Amino acid sequence: MTPTSPRALRQLAGALLALAIVPAVAFAVLQGLVQSESEAQLAEIRDGQLDGLLFSVNQSAWDVASSWAEQLAWIRAEGAPTDLLPGPVMEFLTERPGVRAVVVADTALATQQVLTLPGEAADTTLVLAEAIGLPSIRRLVAQNQQGYRKLEPATLPGGRLGLVFVADGASSRDAIGPPRVLCMVIDPDPFVSAVVMPKLREVGRGGVALGVFRGGEPVGTTDLDWADVERQRPLWLLPATSVGARAGAGSVEEALQRRAFQSLVLFGGVTLVLGAGAWFAWRGVRREVEVARLREDFVSNVSHELRTPLALIRMYAESLAEGRVPDDRKPRYYATLVAEAERLSRLVGNVLQFSRFERGTVQIAREPLDLGGLVEEIAERYRAVVEREGCTLTVRPADGPLPVLGDRDALAESLVNLLDNAVKYGGAGPVEGSVRAEGGHAVAEVADRGPGIPVADRERVFDPFVRVQPESADGLVHTAKGTGLGLALVRRIAVAHGGTAAVRTREGGGSVFQIALPTHA
Ligand code: ADP
Repeated sequence: MTPTSPRALRQLAGALLALAIVPAVAFAVLQGLVQSESEAQLAEIRDGQLDGLLFSVNQSAWDVASSWAEQLAWIRAEGAPTDLLPGPVMEFLTERPGVRAVVVADTALATQQVLTLPGEAADTTLVLAEAIGLPSIRRLVAQNQQGYRKLEPATLPGGRLGLVFVADGASSRDAIGPPRVLCMVIDPDPFVSAVVMPKLREVGRGGVALGVFRGGEPVGTTDLDWADVERQRPLWLLPATSVGARAGAGSVEEALQRRAFQSLVLFGGVTLVLGAGAWFAWRGVRREVEVARLREDFVSNVSHELRTPLALIRMYAESLAEGRVPDDRKPRYYATLVAEAERLSRLVGNVLQFSRFERGTVQIAREPLDLGGLVEEIAERYRAVVEREGCTLTVRPADGPLPVLGDRDALAESLVNLLDNAVKYGGAGPVEGSVRAEGGHAVAEVADRGPGIPVADRERVFDPFVRVQPESADGLVHTAKGTGLGLALVRRIAVAHGGTAAVRTREGGGSVFQIALPTHA
């Protein structure tokens, strides 16, 4: 790899990472903003809804009390101007839960009359005058004379409540004499359970929990603790009493949680997609960089591969031409010239063949031939080269002919490449060729006793330009020169014949390269 490549790759990785992270972070921030905004909106809506419910509870309690006051005033108006009618009042008391007494007094609060159900202690009503006071009586009378009635709550000893109003006056029929002050004495707790609670249950049906509380203690509730109350309002009618509510779990909270979950899933999905995209881009670019590096190596390897035999040929040829070589050494010189020329032509042949494969212009002939015969023929032709390198070459023939349809030259080229590698990387060990029929295939193998190929590289070595550097037998990294095209061609030629090319470890050390071609009947 060129020295700048790792940096360029790191920069690219950074850029891709940023490409994946920046949109994800932006998305997360945006989602967070939208989420909190909609949370605030939803909370506002929820609070508004709860306030509406609390208002309706308050209103209904007030309406009930007003209608009772109206009924009481009606009894008063119907009856004698100066007296309440005990009969209808008793009936009124019996039917109104929580109303314990009815008190009537003149507006000066000078005289008063208390009506209760039998057995009821009426002592609390005796302090009516102190509880309501003359200023509020005057205000009530003035309002009564304007034509409308108002209820004024007044707290009585014992936690009871007086609802004071002016019953007769200008608006009442048969009104004679000064207006009277009427008072219903209400017991708050029974009032809450008889009047407020049914309303709470009604409005709480949508999953909202509601309760009436006094000093943080429940007076009546549809399953709500004071600590869980989200919104609360004083109960207009009952002093020191409030009504509180909490939105049901199935409502806004759940919607928010659902929304948050959906956002999370979406966010995760987007990040995943971006991450996967960045990863693919990174992988693609890394591969490109790797190929570019291999090509670079290839050019320098090819130059070297060309230069070495050319230099040898030139040197030997010059020596011969100048007559500087003794006769007895001439055969060796000639042999070297031939071998180096062969090496050159193999190299050039490989490069040309590979470029034909790359351009798709390769033509594979399909002539019937015997693979066993071809292997033996190539071995014989190549034996001298193998032996010159100090190796031995043996071929185990097949039991019979191995007919295939193939291109003689291309297959020969493959076998020579395999033999060449076995010599180059085999550490001067014996090279063995073999042929056999196996499962509808004709199989040719070349085995050596070299260092073998690491498992991780067994597929890579068949890629163009790839050269691995296995350790040689002496423990050193091999320095054999090459182009990285040999095995790529072996595989391409095999595949072009409908066959395969592979390598495996040889038992006892070394590699076995195999070409398997479909047999031709
Ligand atoms: P080249 O031999 O020109 O480098 P090849 O495509 O023929 O290219 O081989 C690719 C790589 O596979 C070689 O560089 C070498 O590392 C490894 N290789 C090939 N044949 C053998 C072998 N018989 N034993 C060990 N390694 C081998």
